[in-house]
Amino acid sequence: MPDTPVIVNLFVNGEEVKPSSGKYSERFDPGNNDRLIGVIADGSEDVGAAVDAARDAFDSNVGGWVTDYRLRARVLLKTAELIRENAEALAEMESLFSGKTIRTSKLGDVPRAAELFEFYAGAADKIIGTSQVLRTGDLVAIVKQPVGVVAAITPWNFPLVILCRQVAPALAAGCTVVAKPASHTPATAVELAKILIRAGAPRGVFNVVTGSGGTVGRELVKSDKVDVLNFTGETSTGKWIMENAAGTLKRVVLELGGKNPNIVFEDANLERAANAVTYGAYANNGESCAAGSRLLVQSTVKDKFVKMLIERVRMLRVGHQLDESSDLGPLVSAEQLERVLEFVRVSASEGLDIVYGGKRLSGDIFSKGHYMQPTVIDNTPPSSKLFREEIFGPVLTVTEFTDEDEAISLANATIYGLAAGVWSGDTGRALRVAEKVKAGAIWINTYYTLPVELPWGGFKQSGIGRNNTVLALEHYLEVKGIYVDAQPGPMRPYYKLVLGY
Ligand code: NDP
Repeated sequence: MPDTPVIVNLFVNGEEVKPSSGKYSERFDPGNNDRLIGVIADGSEDVGAAVDAARDAFDSNVGGWVTDYRLRARVLLKTAELIRENAEALAEMESLFSGKTIRTSKLGDVPRAAELFEFYAGAADKIIGTSQVLRTGDLVAIVKQPVGVVAAITPWNFPLVILCRQVAPALAAGCTVVAKPASHTPATAVELAKILIRAGAPRGVFNVVTGSGGTVGRELVKSDKVDVLNFTGETSTGKWIMENAAGTLKRVVLELGGKNPNIVFEDANLERAANAVTYGAYANNGESCAAGSRLLVQSTVKDKFVKMLIERVRMLRVGHQLDESSDLGPLVSAEQLERVLEFVRVSASEGLDIVYGGKRLSGDIFSKGHYMQPTVIDNTPPSSKLFREEIFGPVLTVTEFTDEDEAISLANATIYGLAAGVWSGDTGRALRVAEKVKAGAIWINTYYTLPVELPWGGFKQSGIGRNNTVLALEHYLEVKGIYVDAQPGPMRPYYKLVLGY
């Protein structure tokens, strides 16, 4: 753990710089509010400089970045290597600011960040168009070119991974980037900028501006020098962004909220399902768009399954995020803890059954941080606020169903459509349900495995576009058609239809 607070500056045009405003804000350890962990630059007066750096780098093809795909492949591969070399420090920083457990950062987030760069390093020199000789003998070449400047706006729950998910394909495509990390968790974005420079990225290719969404984020959304905006965050923010990006008609990719059902049929391997449902609901403190926060379970096994679940939840250890033995850490902020507790209060007022947890933890370090018990709420009807709205904390609701049709209808009964889990020993049934559930990713007999090979993004109000896989490259590429005339003579025959000479 760093002995002194981390100073998080801006990163513009290849250098760490102080904010023009001279202002910094303080961050305290979410696991122990007595301890100052960072001071964060307010970059609200520096957005223009960062966008200009990215714009100039792109327009001048700095160091050959835009055209030299082998250079980009080498830089991305080296970035993956350096992320691995610095894994320990990155994981510690990530957990310290976000409250996610150190094991989550070490085993999940940081290795995944490296994999993203590795994957897109392999893609950088395989961005190829097509060509066709037409029946006239003419040629059409379809060329793919990088779009330009990408703004990446990211949330606090997976700060490094989500940033890498957005920027690795953008860089592979030959774009340049301005990143705006979440105010709670900006430190690893600046570390990534330093790593990219060490890996050989030319100046201005990757810039970071810290500061609030209301100032820095807003300016990026409205900037006429930004061509693509990749945003991950709340659905309500995504709607505002889409509306306000229209003024400059920039492309938007939106990865938004989720209220994901984990559907357990009576013929499932219940042991395996109970482990995965527990993991899906409480990993990352439940602060995850991918959290399987709605358990839908067949009525014939419901009571048995809830009992199995509670046995597992009871074993989860809540503790400081840097303690290797913690399964859950503190929530990211006092505000987030209060938001989640308010959902629990609503569940009580709605008469739902809080069968486990439901309280803020107190005593020892718990009173100093934002700790909450993992919580299970049984008999949650679809009309409940808890069934419909994203809680974004360690709260799992349970709803029973009788048959396949009811399971599908309950699964689809929210405005979201990000992910879903289906548990059944009958492959035909699992596939039928997967086909009918409206979600961007469906896990069958597993949950929460999210490699770069799985497209990630939502149906309905969970977003627009897909990150991950080679599909993501398309957000950052323009298609250009080039027509080559192969006709002999001074004039094409059909011109005579219009031209009188
Ligand atoms: P927010 O939408 O509040 O913020 C996300 C980012 O947007 C932050 O950097 C924030 O800055 C910035 N921002 C806020 N307002 C604006 C604005 N008007 N213009 C531009 N940028 C703005 O989300 P949270 O950080 O609270 O993250 C939690 C949400 O993210 C949840 O709803 C979750 O489901 C979703 N999410 C979705 C994922 C997915 O893959 N679909 C993955 C992870 C999270 P600041 O921090 O300064 O407020």
